[in-house]
Amino acid sequence: MIIVHDILQARENIADYIHETPILHSSQLSEICGNEMYFKAEHLQKTGSFKIRGASNKVRKAAREGTTYVTAASSGNHGQAVAYIARQLGIQATIVTPVDSAESKKNAIKAYGGKIEECGTTSAERLPRAKELADEHNGMFIPPYDDPLIMAGQGTIGLEIMEQLEDVDAVVVPIGGGGLISGILTAIKQTKPKVKVIGVEPDTANDTFLSLKNKKITAIPATTTIADGLRTSQPGHMTFPVLQKFLDDLVLVSDEEIKQAQKFVLERMKQLIEPSSAVTVAAAMNGKLGINDNNVVCVLSGGNVDV
Ligand SMILES: *Cc1c(COP(=O)(O)O)cnc(C)c1O
Repeated sequence: MIIVHDILQARENIADYIHETPILHSSQLSEICGNEMYFKAEHLQKTGSFKIRGASNKVRKAAREGTTYVTAASSGNHGQAVAYIARQLGIQATIVTPVDSAESKKNAIKAYGGKIEECGTTSAERLPRAKELADEHNGMFIPPYDDPLIMAGQGTIGLEIMEQLEDVDAVVVPIGGGGLISGILTAIKQTKPKVKVIGVEPDTANDTFLSLKNKKITAIPATTTIADGLRTSQPGHMTFPVLQKFLDDLVLVSDEEIKQAQKFVLERMKQLIEPSSAVTVAAAMNGKLGINDNNVVCVLSGGNVDV
């Protein structure tokens, strides 16, 4: 398991490549939710999501050790982040995307200087191809969440939150494969264990919820939740034990609640966030956090939506 020291190192390693994003506050949401509501604005992060933190940590270390070529298997935020950091470091990236992925996503990857290779429609097809390409070029495959350097990179968000809002009581985090929340859990629980960390999943992508209940990693069938960054079918082998050890609570939200929350944040807070981010706001707005009069930080994990 990673420790706070790994996250402190990650912070130094990635400082030149990422923004320290602001914390926003909403009086209206505070009134609705019965807590003081703050938002860690990773939708304003470079490449439009927090994924650049973990990707920078992993790719920078690899580049220092001589790697000149990296691959990833994601048309979404992770693929964009890997393409972006590779170019910053002057190394090549090939991103393996599904044949049916949106033109806008592929264009974003190309704009960051990444090469695209299309392969199948499922991650079961893309993953082996991305690994194979890395091997062929004597390069490195960059996984999206189940990796100590990726988890430590995402954990830097936890350090920033504790500094930016010293009297934080609870942090609310979306869960996909669990890289983001396992990093944040490590940062927070090993420094200020009284701060609650609450995870949120779409009710149709409840693989981590089921895994915690069953006390073992449990896979779910493919889902079509609007929160496309949270569609992973099971938690990671490295991320899951961290959640088992530290997570205070996990709540589920519906696609309808996610859409309402995304709209609310756009209309009232003037912030464009993607559905995978909106799950945290949805949980708060619908009274699912089970806390009152607390200082709550919802992590807004990304803002990449096809307008
Ligand atoms: C990847 C992603 C998540 C989920 O992160 P995991 O580390 O897979 O749990 C949440 N929100 C956005 C916007 C993402 O891109």
